[in-house]
Amino acid sequence: VSQPAAARPDAIRRHNLGLVLSLVHRRGELTRAQLTQALGLNRSTIGDLVADLSELGLLREHVPTGANRVGRPSHVVGPRPDGPYAVAVDLEADSLTSAAVAIGGQILARRESKLDPEEHGPITVAEKIAGHVEELAAATAPGAWAVGLGVSVPGLVRASDGVVEVAPNLEWRGKPFRAVLNDRLPGLPAEVGNDADLGVLAERVRGAAGGSDDVIYLTGKIGVGAGIIVGGNALRGHDGLAGEVGHVVFDPGGPPCHCGGRGCVETYVGEAALLRAAGRDIAPSRESVAAVFADARAGDLAAIRAVSQIADSLGRVAANLVNLLNPQLIVLGGSLGEILTLAGDTVEASLTRHALAAVRSSVSLTTAGLGEDSSLLGAAELAFQVLIADPVRQR
Ligand SMILES: [Zn+2]
Repeated sequence: VSQPAAARPDAIRRHNLGLVLSLVHRRGELTRAQLTQALGLNRSTIGDLVADLSELGLLREHVPTGANRVGRPSHVVGPRPDGPYAVAVDLEADSLTSAAVAIGGQILARRESKLDPEEHGPITVAEKIAGHVEELAAATAPGAWAVGLGVSVPGLVRASDGVVEVAPNLEWRGKPFRAVLNDRLPGLPAEVGNDADLGVLAERVRGAAGGSDDVIYLTGKIGVGAGIIVGGNALRGHDGLAGEVGHVVFDPGGPPCHCGGRGCVETYVGEAALLRAAGRDIAPSRESVAAVFADARAGDLAAIRAVSQIADSLGRVAANLVNLLNPQLIVLGGSLGEILTLAGDTVEASLTRHALAAVRSSVSLTTAGLGEDSSLLGAAELAFQVLIADPVRQR
């Protein structure tokens, strides 16, 4: 006897469930009336969808506590504390940060480990991530469950299969990292993305770039990369590897770059360049870079000059991007955000000097709205995409 067709949730219903989930994820708690208005569906359809999502344990409908309202209390549809969460991971050369992120983007719990160079192997990293996954599960509410794993990697990630083509600061080449994660953590679907691509994704959903369809997120840590949105769509390139602004040639006679080239953008605005400009012959680390910024704030002339030099170069880099892509907004993350905070006038002046006037006038520069967490929260978005695409299959 075949299963009656009516027992299977249909594609339209699944799609609509995803729409409601996605809206609550982006905007937070909403009343049924707000959902009805935002989605253009009728009240009874919204009622059915909310009931389904509640039954699936994905959302809950409740009267907000502590609300000082007059009249009949209004029910809101929102995330539930014992609901699904994404495991988001931000992998950097010297650290591993993980977080359990709820629908709506709230960080429920986080873990951070130092990462030594001898721990850079993909299997060792996957092992450490598995440890974090267990610790996060223990730190979240009973009943809460992980729907997926999103990992931000400081390197070029092939979109089709999650192979990390190259991550120079981890010394990775052609590492099938998504497959390694799926082996170590079966049952927790893993996605891997480039840190800047994920940064721009999160900044657009809940950071400084909300509502902007033409935005560049430029992040500088040890490496420099860009996540680029053009006309509302992520600029990916043929293999998903676009955006390597850090290796655009700034001056072919410039310093050698770890990519094998010379005078790449990274060697002028990256953290190693900042330390070199400040006359400090030490490797970039969170502490050594923070010390330059702290000294510049305290009035140390060498540190101020170094920040100013990087700011001038950053303005030129921004000008090239503005001439090429005509963005509305450039969001600066990592140490480049600090450069903008400390020497914004220098960056702006350099941008004005080097960009075409027609495109210069429409662009503004801002620091990341999510601070250090842009890539981490972008990794959560990556993990949630699977749930939102089909909320029924996840349970
Ligand atoms: Zn390079």
